Amino acid sequence: MKKTKAFSAASATAPLALDTISRREPTAHDVAIDILFCGVCHSDLHTVRNEWSSIMPTVYPCVPGHEIVGRVTAVGSEVSGFKVGDAVGVGCIVDSDHDCPMCKAHVEQFCGNAVFTYNGPDKHLGGVTYGGYSESVVVDKRFVLKVPENLDLAGAAPLLCAGITTYSPIRRWGDIQGKKVGIVGLGGLGHMGVKFARAFGAHVAVFTTSPNKKDDALRLGAHEVILSKDPAEMQKHANSFDFILDTISADHDLNSYIHMLGLDGKLTLVGAPEKPMPVAPFGLLFGRKSVGGSLIGGIKETQEMLDFCGQHNITSDVEVIAMKQINEAYDRLLKSDVKYRFSIDMASLKSA
Ligand code: NAP
Ligand code: ZN
Repeated sequence: MKKTKAFSAASATAPLALDTISRREPTAHDVAIDILFCGVCHSDLHTVRNEWSSIMPTVYPCVPGHEIVGRVTAVGSEVSGFKVGDAVGVGCIVDSDHDCPMCKAHVEQFCGNAVFTYNGPDKHLGGVTYGGYSESVVVDKRFVLKVPENLDLAGAAPLLCAGITTYSPIRRWGDIQGKKVGIVGLGGLGHMGVKFARAFGAHVAVFTTSPNKKDDALRLGAHEVILSKDPAEMQKHANSFDFILDTISADHDLNSYIHMLGLDGKLTLVGAPEKPMPVAPFGLLFGRKSVGGSLIGGIKETQEMLDFCGQHNITSDVEVIAMKQINEAYDRLLKSDVKYRFSIDMASLKSA
C-alpha cells in the first residue's frame, strides 16, 4: 500500500481539507497513475453534501473526483496497451463484473456490480473508493482511457464525465444534423453539450437563467440563447425542439421545457437534482413527447468520445484552480458561477 495526499470531506457539512489516504499496490491487471488534473463535477458536490442520500448515501471521509487525467507511472504484468508516461484518463467507474448483459452491451455503468470511482465499495482495501482529488490512483486497466496527446490536459479532464455524459445522449438521438437542439443550463455539462451538438451539425439553442452567459454561449457554438426566466422569449420557441438536453443541477419546472418540444420531441435529463420533479401528463400526450434520462456512458463509448475530441480538438473551457480553492469553487458552483468547469491542478496538492 502507498500513502497519498488527498482532499476529503469528513461530513456533509465539513469543508474539504487535506487528508492522507492509501492506494493499493498495482495488481497484474492494474495501471498506476500520477494525477495531473481533476475536473470538479456538480456530482462531487451533491455527494460531499450527501444530497443523494436516498439513492447513494455518502460514506465519510469522502474523496470526490471522477474527471481524472494523469500519466502512467507503472503497469501490472498482464497490462498491454499502456506504458509508463502515457497520458490517460479515468472517469466515473473503476470496476464492473464484465459478465452481465449490461457489461456485454458495453454499458458497464448499468452493471449491478459497477463500482463508482468514489463512494463505491472498494474490494481491494475495504471501505469505499476514493476519487481524483488526490495525487495518485491505481485502476484496473479496463477502466483506463487513452487521452489523445494533442489535447490540453487541464481541459481534457472534464471530458471524462461532463464530456461523455453529453456526448452519449446526443449520439444516441440519431442523425442530429440540422435538428433543433436545446441545451438547458450552461455549466460544466451544458457547455460540453453545446460543443458536441454543434460538432454534429445541429441547430443549437441554449436555455439559461444567467443573462451574462449569453456571449459565451454564442462563442461556444450556440446559434441562439433563450433566457428561461423570460416567458415571452420562451413562448417564441414553444413546440419547436427536436431534442432537449437538461443539465440543471437544482430543482426546476420540467413542464416548461417539455412545452418547448415539437412533435415526437424528446427531453433527456442528465442533471440529477435531489428531489422528484412533477411532470404534467397532458404536456406529453399532446405532441407525443417523451422524457428520458442518461447516465455517463460505457468505456468503449468514452474512448470513442475522447478520440472524437482528439480529432476535432475539443476540450472543456476550464478555470484551473489550486486544490485549496476547492471550497470556494463549490460555493461558486452553487451560484452558477463557473466558466465553465473548474479543473484542479494536482501539482498544487504536492505542496499543500
Ligand atoms: P454545473 O456546472 O453547476 O451547471 C449547472 C447549471 O445549471 C448552472 O450553471 C446553471 O446554468 C443551471 N442551474 C443551476 N441552478 C439552477 C436553477 N435553480 N434553475 C435553473 N437552472 C439552474 O453542474 P454540472 O457539473 O454541469 O452538473 C449538472 C447536473 O448534472 C448535476 O446535477 C450533476 O450531478 C449531474 N450530472 C449527471 C451526470 C449523469 O451521468 N447523468 C453526470 C455528471 C453530472 P445557467 O446559469 O445557464 O442557468
Ligand atoms: Zn460527474
